[in-house]
Amino acid sequence: MTQPARIFLSSPHMSDQGYEQQYVQEAFDTNWIAPLGTNVNEFEREFAEKVHIKSAAALSSGTAAIHLALKAAGVGSGDIVFCQSLTFSATANPIIYQDAIPVFIDSDYKTWNMSPEALEEAFHKYPNVKAVVVVHLYGLSAEINRIKELCDHYNVALIEDAAESLGTYYNGQQTGTFGDYGIFSFNGNKIITTSGGGMLVSNNEEMIQKARFWATQSREPARHYEHKELGYNYRMSNVVAGIGRGQLKVLDDRVNKKTEIYRHYINELSELDGIQFMPENNWDRPNYWLSSILLQGSIRPLDLINALEKENIESRPVWKPMHLQPYFEKYDFVGTNVAEQLFLNGVCLPSDTKMKEEDLHRVTKLIKGLWRI
Ligand SMILES: *Cc1c(COP(=O)(O)O)cnc(C)c1O
Repeated sequence: MTQPARIFLSSPHMSDQGYEQQYVQEAFDTNWIAPLGTNVNEFEREFAEKVHIKSAAALSSGTAAIHLALKAAGVGSGDIVFCQSLTFSATANPIIYQDAIPVFIDSDYKTWNMSPEALEEAFHKYPNVKAVVVVHLYGLSAEINRIKELCDHYNVALIEDAAESLGTYYNGQQTGTFGDYGIFSFNGNKIITTSGGGMLVSNNEEMIQKARFWATQSREPARHYEHKELGYNYRMSNVVAGIGRGQLKVLDDRVNKKTEIYRHYINELSELDGIQFMPENNWDRPNYWLSSILLQGSIRPLDLINALEKENIESRPVWKPMHLQPYFEKYDFVGTNVAEQLFLNGVCLPSDTKMKEEDLHRVTKLIKGLWRI
């Protein structure tokens, strides 16, 4: 028997119009293959315009963007950084690159993201903290107004990891543009992709200029190679930026499709016993990057994930919190067990924008079948 076609969690989806190839072709035609060039400059400009921010630096990854955001915020050796625990490790790793000390912060059920209460508790415990890294997970916005208020009150830099939330709006404003710095990712599974890449954004143009400098090996403007600071090779290539420019044109289409996918799951599955959908708040307009659920009944996340995998359908557990990771468990954690419970009970359902109506029905029919035993 041949296997049914694979349904992915979230795979790259290039435009039907071929925008990406046109921009890449331009780079070839002008032989602007090396880093930098028109596509990089235009991608930065178009991206900044799209998210309504002053300045953006196109980088080799979202992780590189977090690293340079920490550096721009002045985080260095021995500094304490508050970091949302429920996230992908890329949020936390750059804190270690800077030889700083992460303190992990719990989530709340209301947003699945950083709990403002736990954050406040952490401020009391570590008044000398240098920066806060909040995440907008799965395209849900954190309660950013309250988190920003706390950061302002304690005069601490706020970095938003919006890798998963391009196209997510909090009270009408793009997530990632509230803090001192915001970062986005164009990794293969994100809502738009360049195959790999990231963006650092800020209203502080001077610091974005500085980040571009660090990202090009901190090369001083001299004919010979002159370096006064440690540098990195973090710039996005002009070829890759061409893909990004094309993808940006279809971002709204992708958000619409992701929203449809989420609505389909709500309509088909919300009656099932013990299923709870990811939270919706009235200030939030999510991009629905991954439709995610909690399972509170007898059917456990792995039962569901394995049943789907048997039919060649990809799904995933919710991120395992950083404070439970062997590499990070020696660092402090402030909060209760919310992030852990979200991990233990959460499932990310297939949210691939290439899915057709019949694919969605294939997924929900299978899931409903599990409840009929
Ligand atoms: C994908 C992702 C990143 C890292 O982005 P890369 O471009 O893969 O380096 C960071 N944080 C979160 C929450 C992510 O999902």
